[in-house]
Amino acid sequence: MTQPGYEIDQMISAKAIAARVEALGAEITEAFQDTDRLVVVGLLRGSFVFIADLIREIGVPCEVDFLEASSYGNDTTSTREVRVMKDLRGNIGGRDVLVVEDIVDTGHTISKVMEMLRARSPRRIKCCAMLDKPSRREVDVKADWTGFEIPDEFVVGYGLDYAQNHRNLPFIGTVRFLDEAK
Ligand code: 5GP
Repeated sequence: MTQPGYEIDQMISAKAIAARVEALGAEITEAFQDTDRLVVVGLLRGSFVFIADLIREIGVPCEVDFLEASSYGNDTTSTREVRVMKDLRGNIGGRDVLVVEDIVDTGHTISKVMEMLRARSPRRIKCCAMLDKPSRREVDVKADWTGFEIPDEFVVGYGLDYAQNHRNLPFIGTVRFLDEAK
């Protein structure tokens, strides 16, 4: 596939993603076996494809809610502000909650979001990330479930964008810039 200025190389196939999502769904089902109803919280926008597939592999009753958070900061410091652009519709107090993230990179977003949601006193709260880039971590945080650990490369597809494009790719691919000397 050719795009102006860059190419996308497949890193994780649609088939590999589907197999991993099925396995994650089974583990999450097991962990929340006793729930009356799980609240699955998708972090917008990157997680929307993953959450759509994941909930269909979860075998306990569940409802879906969404939260949009943006992280702002200076690239040269590890201080980052995470701002909520769109909050949950429902109250998670006393509920079983699964937060679904697209990718844990520096870790700022997920750690701030989990801290904020924990303060609302859920009965149990866990986190599932589709991708993890451990080499980029600035905050000591790890998802309870991770789809794939990947190296420090910018990825797109399966919900993830580059300048709002490529979220509809069925696979996860890396962006390779053709004019790297620029
Ligand atoms: P963190 O706060 O962990 O540094 O950032 C997490 C957010 O950065 C993700 O939710 C995602 O939106 C964005 N992000 C981090 N790495 C990538 C990447 O390789 N590709 C894309 N498309 N977004 C990324």
